[in-house]
Amino acid sequence: MAVHTIALIVVSSLLLLSGCTSPPAAQSTATLFEGARLIVGDEGAPVENAAFVVENGAFTQVGRAGEVRAPDGAARVSLAGKTVMPAIIDAHGHLGYRRGASFRIENYTRENLLDHLQRLAYHGVAAFMSMGTERDLGYALRDELRAAPPAAVALFLTAGRGLAMPNGGPAPPLRDAPYGVSTPDEARAAVRELAAKKIDRYVKIWVDDREGQVTKLTPELFTAAIDEAHRLGLRTATHTQDREDVKAILRAGVDGLAHPPWRLGQEVDEELVALFKERPHVFVLLTLWGTRNQIFGPRPAWIDDPLLGETFTEEDIRLLENPKVPADAPARWKAGVVPRGVARLKAAGVRFGLGDDAGATNGAQYFGFGAHMEMASMVEAGLTPAEAITAATRNSAEILGLDRLGAVAVGKSADFIVLDANPLENIHNTRRINAVYLRGQAVDRAALRAKWTGARTTE
Ligand SMILES: [Zn+2]
Repeated sequence: MAVHTIALIVVSSLLLLSGCTSPPAAQSTATLFEGARLIVGDEGAPVENAAFVVENGAFTQVGRAGEVRAPDGAARVSLAGKTVMPAIIDAHGHLGYRRGASFRIENYTRENLLDHLQRLAYHGVAAFMSMGTERDLGYALRDELRAAPPAAVALFLTAGRGLAMPNGGPAPPLRDAPYGVSTPDEARAAVRELAAKKIDRYVKIWVDDREGQVTKLTPELFTAAIDEAHRLGLRTATHTQDREDVKAILRAGVDGLAHPPWRLGQEVDEELVALFKERPHVFVLLTLWGTRNQIFGPRPAWIDDPLLGETFTEEDIRLLENPKVPADAPARWKAGVVPRGVARLKAAGVRFGLGDDAGATNGAQYFGFGAHMEMASMVEAGLTPAEAITAATRNSAEILGLDRLGAVAVGKSADFIVLDANPLENIHNTRRINAVYLRGQAVDRAALRAKWTGARTTE
């Protein structure tokens, strides 16, 4: 038995003893799930023939079948032959601007934000960090959902607006979302305004000249922003892909990278590795989904995954093909800088989280599906399936400060995915979704599917 399992059983026994004083009403809501292979979310071996109890939206016991004692009157759910993994945490995307293939500011409505959060829930994504492109109604919706979370939406976190040089942020239609700052005082004032809006932990900073199209944020400005964020108890995450810029930003104290620290063609060098080793808290989101056709080819095999048709239109699915990409692209990608860079960062002990940039230019409209493909891409880049799943669950929850998410463990929110096949054997099995539970409640996936596939016939 794995050490973590013993620890969980000890803790759960203690809770059981102390549970004698809890009101009977709490026990009547208990459900025992038994028989599944359980991926806890910690890179350890899975627990075979596991059992766990969910009460009032949280895991109250986790262990092996036969060792977990269900409270009197508990409902029982057999998960024999299934695999359970923690729900996914997506630490980097952009809500609101996509509506199918349409990509514009006018799409940023309450209805569309909720639709994205439902698509995420449908795919087993428990929480989503919208990274620096929020508009005012986004803050209000976040607060409303936080106060009374509906059953079938992912938790909405936001970095608010980000910072860039004036008109120097992300590609349109996201371009005008960040604060445009030209002086250190303006950078600090923008961070203070974000703190007042109670953003969720991170200030997003763009340091990119977009191949010479825009002016790049200067070291003086990003240093002021990082310093002010830290002074206010916030952290910072950057959009930067040039290796030398990444080095400067690491030295300025950034807390994480929303993209890999290299552009195509740049190798991870010794200096970069040393900077990461000196800063073990700094996370990296590989955000590979945008390069899907390089990784998987002009017509990826997974394009025929029936899961796509459950939430996306035929046009959405067709856009995943790119005939201009040569057939040998995946072989060249595999032998190229990305897997080499990932191997070097992994050897340096860098903490990877999951970000897919869903809703932006490269992540496109594939909310939820993109998170699964990001895990598959991480495995193509050299992580093991267990490492990719841990990045997508425990690590991303830690990065976002979500103490109650990211693992199947006593005291955590009961957010989990029931799978028909084992993703440790093939990472593509994370998409063989049988059921999704968020906060202990089954997401009504059939109702959501009807909404999306029914709407299609009227288009
Ligand atoms: Zn982004």
